[in-house]
Amino acid sequence: MSDKVTVVAVDGPAASGKSTVSKLLAKKLGFNYVDSGAMYRAVTWQALEMGVDVTDPIAVIGMMHTIKISFEIRDGVARMLINGVDPGDAIREPRVAEKVSVIAAIPEVRQILVQHQRSLTKFGSLVMEGRDIGSVVFPDTPHKFYLDANPEVRVQRRQRDFAAMNIQTSAENVAQNLQARDKLDAGRATAPLQIAVGATVIENSRLSVEETVEVILGQIRRQPPRPDPLPWRGEGNPQP
Ligand code: C5P
Repeated sequence: MSDKVTVVAVDGPAASGKSTVSKLLAKKLGFNYVDSGAMYRAVTWQALEMGVDVTDPIAVIGMMHTIKISFEIRDGVARMLINGVDPGDAIREPRVAEKVSVIAAIPEVRQILVQHQRSLTKFGSLVMEGRDIGSVVFPDTPHKFYLDANPEVRVQRRQRDFAAMNIQTSAENVAQNLQARDKLDAGRATAPLQIAVGATVIENSRLSVEETVEVILGQIRRQPPRPDPLPWRGEGNPQP
């Protein structure tokens, strides 16, 4: 692994703009883009496909030990394959969104996925988005950002995402799912959604994607990327 690997951590609640911002940011920096939420979604999708009861942690952990997780980088984007299959857009379906935070609260699932997330530096520098990237996955990176936006804006953004995928769902359903996930994600015992120590908070309700990326790039330029000490052994932020 190169000692020049740089990690930019982008955390925040659901539909806070992390994905669009992180993708553009990665492109501008020439880094790989990693969506850690997609990994939790892919595992959830797999459980649903296999008929595993997602509310039964033992069953989910059992499934984790029977599947093979691997990664490939396509056009600067890390893709997680399960048993050699990329589930693609299926991980965005509402049935997956409804269950993903339950699976993401299982510590053993997190432990396995966090190891994979850390391993992705073998492909080079990266922008990784999620909930615990600055607090748990890469706590030593100096480049930590926390995006947020007001609830109405977040609902509108997620509805646009669904419309682009031809999925019909009401604003009410979207709002309920975002609220429920935020509550579970922020309230869980292991690696809860929180503002990592040292993170720059960006409220982007009134900012365009480009403007948000410029704020982040400005901050990174003020603190030029430096190698992260390896291996990452951080145990996360002090518990609140
Ligand atoms: O980012 P996205 O909304 O697609 O993430 C889906 C879910 O995956 C989140 O609601 C959360 O439960 C889980 N997640 C997580 N830790 C991460 C990324 C996502 O627990 N680093």
